[in-house]
Parts: sequence; structure tokens; C-alpha cells
Amino acid sequence: MERQYIVRKRLLLTVTALLVAGFLTTNLVSFHVSRLALKTTILHNELPLTSSNIYSEIQADLLRPIFISSLMAHDTFLRDWLLAGERDVDKITRYLNEFRAKYDVFTSYLISDKTQQYYHFSGPTKKVSEADGRDVWFFRVKAMTEPYEINIDYNQAQGNDITIFINYKIFDYAGNFIGVTGVGLKLDAVARIIARYSGAFSRTVYFVDRSGRITVRSNPSESPPGSLDENIRSAPGVRDIADRLLTTADGHFEYSLRGESMLVTSRLIKELGWYVVVEQREADIIVNLWRGFLTNIAIGLVIILITITAIAYTINIYHRRLEALATTDKLTGIPNRQSFDSLIEYAIRLRKRAPRPLSVILFDIDQFKEVNDTLGHLKGDEAIQSLVAVVKGRLRETDVPCRWGGDEFMVLLEGCPLEQALAVAEDLRAAVGAHAVLPSEPDRRITISAGVADLHEGDNLDTLVSRADRALYQAKAQGRNRVLAAGAGSEPNPERPRAGARVGALAQTG
Ligand code: GH3
Ligand code: MG
Repeated sequence: MERQYIVRKRLLLTVTALLVAGFLTTNLVSFHVSRLALKTTILHNELPLTSSNIYSEIQADLLRPIFISSLMAHDTFLRDWLLAGERDVDKITRYLNEFRAKYDVFTSYLISDKTQQYYHFSGPTKKVSEADGRDVWFFRVKAMTEPYEINIDYNQAQGNDITIFINYKIFDYAGNFIGVTGVGLKLDAVARIIARYSGAFSRTVYFVDRSGRITVRSNPSESPPGSLDENIRSAPGVRDIADRLLTTADGHFEYSLRGESMLVTSRLIKELGWYVVVEQREADIIVNLWRGFLTNIAIGLVIILITITAIAYTINIYHRRLEALATTDKLTGIPNRQSFDSLIEYAIRLRKRAPRPLSVILFDIDQFKEVNDTLGHLKGDEAIQSLVAVVKGRLRETDVPCRWGGDEFMVLLEGCPLEQALAVAEDLRAAVGAHAVLPSEPDRRITISAGVADLHEGDNLDTLVSRADRALYQAKAQGRNRVLAAGAGSEPNPERPRAGARVGALAQTG
């Protein structure tokens, strides 16, 4: 019993472990595959798309002021006015103001190379000087080969408003440099983008200049990569990719910060000399995946639990059935010899603690071969069943009948001394003999012979049964249809230790 319980428990544990392990493995693998796929999509599609959208937006915003400045730089009026000796300053002031108002920029200006005079839309003029730090831009523009430059001035205090100046070179009709004109306006795109990404998305957008300094950023400075003006070359985590980022016009990277993986794409906005960087915490994108994974695991475990319970239940049912099959005689439904053995051994063991009488009756159908021979084996079976019914009907509830084998039966009589057992055996013999064993053969009778033995001190199952067996043998020898009590002798039978040659001292009753 104990062993079977352990085997069953081990089987259930193994099945559970297999199911759980298999289930966890497949789920983990699929989670991992989805995670990789999602990460690839984010890193190679989504983030680059974001940075390229931002790039286009900024470029679109830059087009207008470049166009305005170009218009002014190529205007014949402006060039003629410069070439004609810069007379009538009001005219040029009006001209500059006109452009400022029409195109809604906040400043417009002109510097003459010949006179180094700075003309402003609001009127007052001044001379530019190479020695003045605020004027160096004019000399820089004059020296450069490109027709214009975009000069950024951004003010962090004004909510990431970026002011840009488009400084456009003016040439005379022969192609000689004669001055610089330009407009200044707010670059709304950056502010718009930053506003859009402030808190609303799990992405951080920031701009860094070519040196790596963070010029504008969306989210609070606690989040990566660092605060404004901090250089990404020195900010924790992102510094690992800073060199590569600042030398790649269009790249994607990954770095880890405090054990968290960050996905990054960057794109150089040449016009501004800035990189737009879009960053995303990997944990934020897999959070739904992770939730799905946990839900799957929970559902799976519940299913496994139900399955295991069902298996355990089924095993128990079948086990009980098998147990019943193994201990019961199929033809008669009474215990078989195997289960009877353990029953009687247990009864004998109990006697060692509290002596109490115990007897057995071993009986055998007389000339049963003949029944089979004349009526057939099936009728023989019926006769056995009918005999058992008669026997059961005569026994007390505590008396246990068992099919010992073939046409041989044993009855265990609990608390029953030899004399009483003899009486019971005699009763059985008479009842069987008086009973028509087959309805189809009302005249056909069968008889039984029985050997009765009681438990003596020092007896074991073998000695007890062999005494009963010898008594039975003697009953057969004396002419059958009788009951004999076993004598005192208990020498084992050399041929059949448990149901051997029926010899020994016997006493007849009935
Ligand atoms: P005896 O009086 O000496 O016991 O004579 P017997 O013919 O009964 O001889 P024995 O007990 O040695 O033979 C038992 C016979 O019972 C042999 C076998 O064919 C028959 N038998 C045993 N088990 C079954 C069974 O389950 N069904 C049927 N129909 N016959 C059985
Ligand atoms: Mg027989």
C-alpha cells in the first residue's frame, strides 16, 4: 500500500514537473522570440521613423526663413542700394521692416561689407567690428564658401524656444561679396516636437550638438540620458555609445543604464549641426508582452492543476478497481486466496497480542469432475456460484469465505473454537447437500467434504492450513460428504506444504 502510494505520488510529481517544465519552456521561448522581434521593429523601424519625422519637420520649418533670406539677398533693390552708396537709410529700414512684417519674423537686418554698417528693421544702425564678440558671425559668414548659414541661439528659459538666424551672403552683379542680409525667427518645430514628447510617450527625444552637449530635451532631467547642457560623453550609460553616435549621421544603438536596456536612434540634422536622438526604455515596450506572458503562465498553471487533479482522480479510481480485481475471485465475487492469505496472517498476528480462538474450514466439492463431465464446464461454473451463495447464506458476517482454488474453499471463523467451527462446517455440508445446485437439474445434488482446524499456539498460516488440509483428505478418504476435525499433529507435508497429502491423526464428527 505504502509503496503504491509512493509510486503514484512520484508519477503525479513527474507528470506535473514535465507539464510545468514544458509549458514554461515554450512560453519562455515564445516570449523571448517576440521580445527580440519587437525590439528589432522598434530599433530598426519605429525609432528611425520617429527621428526621420522629426528631421523632416525641422527641415520644413527651416525652409521658409532660408527662402526669405535668399529672396532678400537676391533682391536687385537691396543690391542696387548697397552699390549706389547706401544713401537714404530710411528706405532700407522700410524695406527690412516690410519683410519682417510680411513674413512674420522677429528681426531682419543687413550688413554692408564696404561700410561695415549694420542696418536693422527698427532703424538704429551701428558699425560691426571684428573685435566685438557679438559681431564675429559677420566675418565668419564672409569667410565661408556656402551661400548662407543657420545660426542657432536657443534659450532654455523660454520653453525650448530656439531662435535661428539665417545669414545670407549678398553678391554684386559681378559676383563680388558686398554684404550679408538675414532674418531671425523662432524655430517652432523643435518646441513642438519637444512638447509632444514631454511625458506623453515613453520615449525621450533630445538634441545634442556635435560636441555631444544636450541642447534641448523632452522629458524631466531625471530620465536618461542626463540634464540639459550635460555632455552625453560623460552621462552614465549613454557615454558608452556617445562616440559612435556623434560620428554616425544615421544610426541605432543600445546601451544599458542601471541594468535597464535603452534603445536609441540618432540622426544628424546638418542644417542645425545637431543630432536628434530618440530613446526608448526596452522595459516599456515589453511591458505588455510581459503581462501577456504572466497571464499565459497563470492560465497554464491553472490548467495543469486541473489536469493533474483529473489524472490523480482517475488513477485513484482505476487503482481501487485494480485492487478489487486483484483481491476478488472473478467467478464467485468472494475473496481469492491471495487476499485471504493476508487476512488470515493478520488475524494470526493479532492473536500474539490477545489470544482468541480462531478456526478454519477447508472444504472441497465431491466428484466435481463428474459434474463438469456430465453437464459441461459452464454448468459447473454455475454450480460453483450457486454453492457459494448457499455457503454465504449460512455464515455469520464475521466469517469470511474464500475461493482457495478450483473446487476448494476456505472459511475463516473469527473468535470461533474448534467445536463451534465443526458445527458450522456440518451446517454447511448439510445445507449444500440439501440444495439443488442447478435450477435446470432439480434432482442433481452435490456434496462437499470438509477439514476443520483451530489455531494452536505456535501455529503459522502453513501449519494451520496443512492440518485442515489433512483433515479434508481424510474426509475424502473416508467416503466424502463429511466433516473431520484436524488432529494435534502438524508435521509439514513434503509434497504440498499448504494443501498436501491428507494424512495425520484425525477425529471424526457429524
Ligand atoms: P474429489 O471428490 O476427489 O474432489 O473429486 P473431484 O472430481 O472433485 O476432483 P478434484 O477436486 O481433484 O477436481 C476438481 C475439478 O474441478 C477439476 C476441475 O475440472 C474442476 N474445476 C476446478 N475449477 C473449476 C471452475 O472454475 N469451473 C468448473 N466448471 N470446474 C472447475
Ligand atoms: Mg473436488
